[in-house]
Amino acid sequence: MTARIIDGKALSARLRAEFRQRVGRLVDQGVIPGLAVIRVGDDPASRIYVGNKVKACEECGVASFQQALAADASEADVLAGIRQFNTDPAIHGILVQLPLPGHIDVRRVLEAISVNKDVDGFHLYNVGGLVVGNTIFPPCTPYGVQLLLETTGTDVAGKNVVVVGASNIVGKPMALMLLQKEATVTICHAKTQNLAQHTILADILIVAAGKPGLIVPQMVKEGAIVIDVGINRLPDGRIVGDVDFAGVREKASWITPVPGGVGPMTVTMLIENTLRSAERAHHLRKNNDYQDWETPSIKAG
Ligand code: NAP
Repeated sequence: MTARIIDGKALSARLRAEFRQRVGRLVDQGVIPGLAVIRVGDDPASRIYVGNKVKACEECGVASFQQALAADASEADVLAGIRQFNTDPAIHGILVQLPLPGHIDVRRVLEAISVNKDVDGFHLYNVGGLVVGNTIFPPCTPYGVQLLLETTGTDVAGKNVVVVGASNIVGKPMALMLLQKEATVTICHAKTQNLAQHTILADILIVAAGKPGLIVPQMVKEGAIVIDVGINRLPDGRIVGDVDFAGVREKASWITPVPGGVGPMTVTMLIENTLRSAERAHHLRKNNDYQDWETPSIKAG
């Protein structure tokens, strides 16, 4: 069997075309959706990621606002920027580009973002919402994977899903989202013993470990759907995922390429969340029901 390709680039392009129409409808009602991006320091990778997000905003008609702070900016500076965006009605989504410099408490920063504008879905409120099944903003990468899976026409209910990787931004929310869809979910991580014993049972295998070549054909069930979230740069400059694409493609029924699979979907879902936020805020404001909702930071100790 040679797997069919799940084309993230094509799905992204289709979604972005729809987004332009949604933006047009918002603009007709006097609303320009706006995304604010806060970047601290001069990490070249972060610069590229922020650039891609700004470009996607431009492509879809979303206004973007950047705040670039110096690497030695204090946590108070970052929090002040967030508070300003929290109360600005022109801003519907706020994201803080990670990683942050070590002297800044990431949790405190993420919890300062209004849950109404938490388009990355990293605030505890939205994370908690994933557990009970009513999050406002699903985190972008797992949300993108969910849409990619839908393009295969497979109902995940009752399927064995194995998620390799248990990070807060990919593996754990991915597992929770598919549990909500009634899949039987196993989460594996670096301490999992005999990884292959788990992956071989997967009808749907989702890999987000950041380890090139981690998944080889012997670890994959015949006919499985394989989603490769990994992005790894090899010493020769090539970008590869975590899955031996050429080998596994001969066993799987569907597979995502790297690049061109999950990657383009992450930024696209950020735009989706920003539009959702703008539509939601507009609807709530019309009904006098919009609250500037900021949960207090949770302090350790
Ligand atoms: P992360 O925070 O480093 O987490 C990696 C996870 O993989 C951890 O849970 C780790 O286990 C687990 N892991 C590491 N080695 C493993 C092994 N040999 N066997 C099983 N599990 C293993 O990384 P992340 O942020 O989730 O990202 C994962 C990958 O996805 C990276 O390549 C990243 O670049 C990529 N990514 C892509 C997108 C996209 O848009 N396509 C978005 C985000 C991330 P422990 O918890 O035990 O340490």
